[in-house]
Amino acid sequence: MPITNYSHDQLIELDRRHIWHPYSSIENDNPLFAVVSAEGAYIQLQTGERLIDGMSSWWSTLHGYNHPQLNRAVEDQLKKMAHVMFGGFTHEPAVKLAKQLVDISPAKLKRVFFSDSGSVAVEVAMKMAIQFWQSQGQNRQKFLTIEKGYHGDTFAAMSVCDPVTGMHHMYTGVLMEQLFTPQPRCRFYDAWSDEDFNSFESKFLAHQADIAAVILEPIVQGTGGMHFYSPTFLKKVRALTSAFGVPLIADEIATGMGRTGRMFACEHADVEPDIMCLGKTLSAGYITLAATLCSDDIATTICDGKAGVFMHGPTFMANPLACSVASKSIALLFENDWQLQVKHIENWLNSGLAPCKQLKGVADVRVLGSIGVVEMDSPVDLKLLQPEFVKRGIWLRPFGKLIYMIPPYIINKDEIDKLCAGVYEVIDRTYGHA
Ligand code: PMP
Repeated sequence: MPITNYSHDQLIELDRRHIWHPYSSIENDNPLFAVVSAEGAYIQLQTGERLIDGMSSWWSTLHGYNHPQLNRAVEDQLKKMAHVMFGGFTHEPAVKLAKQLVDISPAKLKRVFFSDSGSVAVEVAMKMAIQFWQSQGQNRQKFLTIEKGYHGDTFAAMSVCDPVTGMHHMYTGVLMEQLFTPQPRCRFYDAWSDEDFNSFESKFLAHQADIAAVILEPIVQGTGGMHFYSPTFLKKVRALTSAFGVPLIADEIATGMGRTGRMFACEHADVEPDIMCLGKTLSAGYITLAATLCSDDIATTICDGKAGVFMHGPTFMANPLACSVASKSIALLFENDWQLQVKHIENWLNSGLAPCKQLKGVADVRVLGSIGVVEMDSPVDLKLLQPEFVKRGIWLRPFGKLIYMIPPYIINKDEIDKLCAGVYEVIDRTYGHA
């Protein structure tokens, strides 16, 4: 049986017979599109359509697909070695990347733990917090977080995802029980109201002696609803956690590397977390890679304590191919003036999506950095909408009530206009004018 050159129909048929896709039934009949290549801001389908990428392959692509310099970074490294174990060995790609990360991150984050995916970076962060207290003779196991959050699909990460919209109902009794407080109501551009901090403050104070860490997505809660909340909330979380010496874990997996208009979303509130998780954009959409950064205090407390070591060590830790491409991607961010790129995207999204406010079924339109959101007043039908987007030459994947876009930074105004016009047309055609 040939292993290449399947016809389009064979490919789809074999896929449906054997492969599981994200969050889907194995008897999945959701629309499925075969991709043959991708370049810049475009994805080429086997059926001939060329789609403008509005999703950055789930927040990960920054400089576009098939980028000559990123390709070269992988190719050059591949000629030397694809991988080598990280126990007892080190290599330049890892050291160079760690140094770059420490240089661009909040000042107190000086130690880097590499892993293979965002969820694992969150597991690592949570283990760091638990070991931080163990080293001080305290058995603290609870994590405090805010509702409507999302931190990944592994067990500890799932335990701090939203208990209602997350996956808790499927794993009741298996997941650790964590502490939740309501999502901040004050949105990014709203005037701050102190009331918005009351629930968090009282929950924190009631349980502070048991709390290993507070974990949250700074400023943008992504998968839990694309909610952009007030920087003042984050400032207050930092002040309270600092006052009690409780570590703050910032999950910057979706927001890191400039997505929200600042290198890290924490910078909107001028706060420094004790532990920070990176993934997705870290390796610019090329090869899976994640990192958990922490302060000297967290690292030395863990390692000076009883255990003496931090107990985690993935096989593909600091994979040289992934580190090389991540390193080149960070260099490209600065060469390309990422701040200007994201500012342009923000302006184009603001003007391009504004007309959607007039459409029936639209509850809200919001933009922050390179994230544009049209929130509908009821869940959208993916099966209906996705082929309509593809027909218009754009790639978007709505979920729940949200039709959103997070394009790569190299996208131009014309392409953003096409994405926004496609969203307008499809909503208009499906729901009509208000
Ligand atoms: N944290 C956040 C904020 C995320 O958005 C995601 C991925 N959507 C994760 C963690 C998990 O990352 P991964 O899918 O790489 O495991």
